[in-house]
Amino acid sequence: MFFNKVIKASVQTGLRFQGTSTQVAARAAKASPGGFSFEFTEQQKEFQQLARKFAREEIVPAAPLYDRSGEFPFPIIKKAWELGLMNGHIPEDCGGMGLGIFDSCLITEELAYGCTGVQTAIEANSLGQMPVIIAGNDAQRKKYLGRMTEEPLMCAYCVTEPGAGSDVAGIKTRAVKMGDEYVVNGQKMWITNGGKANWYFLLARSDPDPKCPASKAFTGFILEADTPGVQIGRKEMNMGQRCSDTRGITFEDVRIPKENVLVGEGAGFKIAMGAFDKTRPPVAAGATGLAQRALDEATKYALERKTFGKFIAEHQAVAFLLAEMAMKVELARMGYQRSAWEVDQGRRNTYYASIAKAFAGDIANQVASDAVQVFGGNGFNSEYPVEKLMRDAKIYQIYEGTAQIQRLIISRELLTRFKN
Ligand SMILES: Cc1cc2nc3c(=O)[nH]c(=O)nc-3n(C[C@H](O)[C@H](O)[C@H](O)COP(=O)(O)OP(=O)(O)OC[C@H]3O[C@@H](n4cnc5c(N)ncnc54)[C@H](O)[C@@H]3O)c2cc1C
Repeated sequence: MFFNKVIKASVQTGLRFQGTSTQVAARAAKASPGGFSFEFTEQQKEFQQLARKFAREEIVPAAPLYDRSGEFPFPIIKKAWELGLMNGHIPEDCGGMGLGIFDSCLITEELAYGCTGVQTAIEANSLGQMPVIIAGNDAQRKKYLGRMTEEPLMCAYCVTEPGAGSDVAGIKTRAVKMGDEYVVNGQKMWITNGGKANWYFLLARSDPDPKCPASKAFTGFILEADTPGVQIGRKEMNMGQRCSDTRGITFEDVRIPKENVLVGEGAGFKIAMGAFDKTRPPVAAGATGLAQRALDEATKYALERKTFGKFIAEHQAVAFLLAEMAMKVELARMGYQRSAWEVDQGRRNTYYASIAKAFAGDIANQVASDAVQVFGGNGFNSEYPVEKLMRDAKIYQIYEGTAQIQRLIISRELLTRFKN
């Protein structure tokens, strides 16, 4: 059976599971490429192959059913966890593999090829974990990240509210210090893994003074999901990525011990925003995986469907459309790889991360829509795979900073660089 074979192969290559092993750790540390090279290391090729095989044999066949039912794809997530295809960036001292962002992105692109609903559920774990990875103290990291290497748990990033998404500084959830605890009241919206998470990264306003700058007004917390007063809303019915679990969450007098504050009171905004430099490259990789799938489906169909006595791929208009799609996919891939490589070198990659995310989000939408066009009437029908891709693609222009917000960031970075 495929699954056993993959496990065997992954044992041989040291890629297996979440657990620690010096061999896995040493190989992972060497994984990020140095210098200018388009050649992957042997280990990166192994990661890519493992994820590709898993996506094509396990995710692709199951994706239409999950899309129709909206059910959370836990059986797939559990297998991905067992194979070490999620949470790979959890540091070695917390029981993880300590992968770089580049290597994680290679896996993400492959999983997204299978289904971006599944990939978003997996990626939301990275988003929830990233504030703890970048800002958690030893005890917090070991407790909350370590837990995720021991069993297939989900976590979530709780920032957006009904009244504020792009304008993060406008969030209203309040945290008030009372003795050794903070008492939290407020409401979050659109939280991926909201109903499945074991714990949340939560951003709340701790300084009520409207004149207090964002960089000091908010505090980041780790919150156990089963804390009294956490009320999880209904699963939202979204346009695409339907098996991903998106919910509103209400906090009513929720008590969080002060040990669960990240860094210190007032440090939350920077932590919440800082996570994006490491999570936007994988989001771009996910969009690229979707676009590659749309290109492959369209190419296959164009070589099967005949009109006017020839395959539609032989009509220049269709062939050129496929060529345009291919150009976009290749450039989106280079964009996410550059942005991931930059951050793995320890450099600030905000500019590249936003370029990668904005570009890949846009081209995923264009390429998915073009794939529907290549399929003609069949493309509009849910018996064929491309209408799902078109629905699934839209969110890449919205979450983790909309297409407009990315342009705001890019232009700000560009102008600052130009002036200096
Ligand atoms: C399926 C899904 C999953 C999500 N998962 C999470 C999650 O796990 N955690 C989380 O915290 N959030 C999550 N979000 C929230 C997401 O990040 C926000 O929806 C997004 O940031 C946009 O915020 P908004 O919806 O409030 O739109 P708004 O901020 O109200 O924006 C509305 C429109 O105005 C534009 N706009 C706003 N401000 C400007 C500006 N200054 N200049 C130009 N244009 C502007 C926007 O680009 C957009 O087109 C998720 C959302 C969805 C739909």
